[in-house]
Amino acid sequence: MQGRIWLAAAAVVAAIGLVAVAPGADAGQLTAAAEPATTLPATTVPATTVPEIPDPRPPDTTPPVVGVTLSSALVSPNGDGRLDRLTVRVTVDEDATLSVTVRNPVGGGHAHLATDQPTSPGTVSLVWLGRLQRGDGTWATAGNGRMVIDVEAVDLATNTTTVTESVGVDTRAPTLRQGPVSPEPWTGQGALTQHFSTSDPSRPLTMWTRVLRDGRVLDQSPPHPRPASTHSISWHPDAWTRTLPIGLYEGEVVVRDAAGNTSRRSVPFRVHRVVTTQRISQVAGAGRRVAITIDDCYHQAAWSSMLSTLDRLDAGATFFCNGEYVRRFADVARRTVATDRVSIGSHTVGHVDLATVSFGEALHRMLGDEAAWWDVARATPAPYLRPPYGSYDNEVLAAAGRASFAYTVLWDVDPQDWDTNDPGTVISRVLSGAKGGSIILLHTKPQTAQALETIIRSLRARGLQPVGLPELLG
Ligand SMILES: [Zn+2]
Repeated sequence: MQGRIWLAAAAVVAAIGLVAVAPGADAGQLTAAAEPATTLPATTVPATTVPEIPDPRPPDTTPPVVGVTLSSALVSPNGDGRLDRLTVRVTVDEDATLSVTVRNPVGGGHAHLATDQPTSPGTVSLVWLGRLQRGDGTWATAGNGRMVIDVEAVDLATNTTTVTESVGVDTRAPTLRQGPVSPEPWTGQGALTQHFSTSDPSRPLTMWTRVLRDGRVLDQSPPHPRPASTHSISWHPDAWTRTLPIGLYEGEVVVRDAAGNTSRRSVPFRVHRVVTTQRISQVAGAGRRVAITIDDCYHQAAWSSMLSTLDRLDAGATFFCNGEYVRRFADVARRTVATDRVSIGSHTVGHVDLATVSFGEALHRMLGDEAAWWDVARATPAPYLRPPYGSYDNEVLAAAGRASFAYTVLWDVDPQDWDTNDPGTVISRVLSGAKGGSIILLHTKPQTAQALETIIRSLRARGLQPVGLPELLG
């Protein structure tokens, strides 16, 4: 462009020179030369008298200086909100027309971000949303791999600069295999270690671990930048300086690749430790909440029916099952754990009167039920124990504390449903005894299963809220 401008300016100067020597152009200034000049015809002015003014600048043969920067080296156009788009910033140092194209050098397809776009000196930002137009005219998300970005800037003298960049497209989440949490069960003291292996082409990877309970995140380790490999992360989840209460948790591993794709996997683990068990038969300060507790689980159909009733009415309850029935009716056991607002406690293995056996025997029967729940449903009955018949002595309470049962759960409302086949009798006995903070004792018997819906509705009609033990104690 500069070359053209200077050529035009020289022509103008030449024209002015011609005018300046033309006769009568300015009588005052040309007086001295006026007389001889009048004798000459204007047409005889020799061209050689016009001074030649040289072009002070050469023609523009310099192509534009072009700089290209990308907002990231990778994009992941999968709509997860992380690196879904790429910003291409192009800087030119002079007026130019700009063309920017993203293309897939392997699979084909392209996207024009700019086509002969007039651009002033400065920076232009262009956004690519990760889609390419295929040969048949349709648009699709770019495949995984490297895309080429062609940038061409042409100045007004048609000098051209081309720059080629590339960006990686990766929409694949890292592979992630979650190993065990160790130690399991964890006491809440020392480090908890989560084992896993992961791989992904878009490195570096960032990984961290979390501990959840009932779907809620309690604590999270710091993020670690690590290579793809087999790893373990050891840390101390503390739920913000509180020692985690006894019970069931999920240990989750999260891995995010450099393109922002994220994988997460979790495994259950238990927190168990020696405690002093606390006997409860009702709970003061529970407001209008009453606990429904259901024992034994020997009758599969009744057990299953009670779960359906609780689920349908959105009521809570806690089941105390003997370990042999947890294993025998494993599907119902898993359904119990999966039902909202339903929780579990231990009723030991074998339903013997624990006060009649040794400390070691009592502990063995408690841990046997614990193992049944863990094996069948990856669940723990801790921290709730109901000794069979409500029978205990100091050794039973010591064994309960050793086995992580922080609560030895008795009751204050016993409709003696084992002693009647009439659902109406069970209903009236429950309602005559229940008050805020009560713990109601029921069994997995067919007539009790029949009565359960009316029990729940009648409690509610009296302003009481049937819940499980975690809600009663919470
Ligand atoms: Zn029982």
